Amino acid sequence: MPHFTEQFATSPLQNIQHPLLKKHQVRLSVKRDDLLHPLVNGNKLRKLKYNLLAAKQQGKDHLVTFGGAFSNHIHATAAAAKLAGFRATGFIRTHKLDANNPTLKFAQSCGMTLIPLSREVYRLKHTQAVIQSCTKEIENPYVIPEGGSNALALQGMAELIEELPPCDYIYTPIASSGSFAGLLKGAQKHQHPAKLIAVAVLKGAEFIQDDILRLFPDAAILTERYHLSLSHHFGGYGKFTLELVAFCRTMKQHGLPLEPIYSGKMMAGLFADISAGHIPAGSHIVAVHTGGLQGIQGLRYRGLLNAHDL
Ligand SMILES: *Cc1c(COP(=O)(O)O)cnc(C)c1O
Repeated sequence: MPHFTEQFATSPLQNIQHPLLKKHQVRLSVKRDDLLHPLVNGNKLRKLKYNLLAAKQQGKDHLVTFGGAFSNHIHATAAAAKLAGFRATGFIRTHKLDANNPTLKFAQSCGMTLIPLSREVYRLKHTQAVIQSCTKEIENPYVIPEGGSNALALQGMAELIEELPPCDYIYTPIASSGSFAGLLKGAQKHQHPAKLIAVAVLKGAEFIQDDILRLFPDAAILTERYHLSLSHHFGGYGKFTLELVAFCRTMKQHGLPLEPIYSGKMMAGLFADISAGHIPAGSHIVAVHTGGLQGIQGLRYRGLLNAHDL
């Protein structure tokens, strides 16, 4: 059976022009995974691909997952489930579902059933007890963890490496680590020469090192091949500053749409590295745009961004 993701297997590579790049003689290309599919977010689609195939192979027809009320993963899973012919249930970290929240509205319009989970229960979402109680009424469930980061997610992200040209650095944002661990796995497998740089979008993210190792134990022997950039979180997960929004706006004027939760922080970290002289002249950087632009609507809805901001 042809898999729906196969029609959208590649995304374009965009060359960016910017005075800072010129000044430091650095070439920057962006892998526009935000354009992989009009409805399903970049890295979340990559992470879902082999999960959806496994679910089909196992005869499961109902995806069950977890996420925050503005989650890119909930948005992506709802859309992917609809496109690939699955039923879907999303357990949402909230005391009460807000019918006007644009992410939840979209998920519902895709046919996803939404069920609120209190913060206390949500904290235990990875435990057998909570998973069992969440799925007891659901026939034939296929459970995907929050953010979609499991072993099969790595496989989908690893494929992205094959679509990249040889280059010196690959930048990507990192949160639950599945995407980056997958890229690292792909770089190892295909002997891609680049050094991989992960820009953490959350604060105090030293634990990320352990998360990477848990998902991809070989990372322990690849320490020279990657670097974690921990100081461009702009206050922590989901937080950002006016300066970051202004930076995203400037990049949009240079033809690159960003949002301030993931891709904006990654690009700001990358530009800071260039400004600081950490990137040698003549280098070619590829930044992976992991998508997430749907989140802008949620930020506007909450009054965290103005309509003209981004
Ligand atoms: C989830 C997400 C990330 C982080 O990916 P992880 O695999 O959780 O590290 C980065 N960018 C966007 C747009 C995301 O939605």
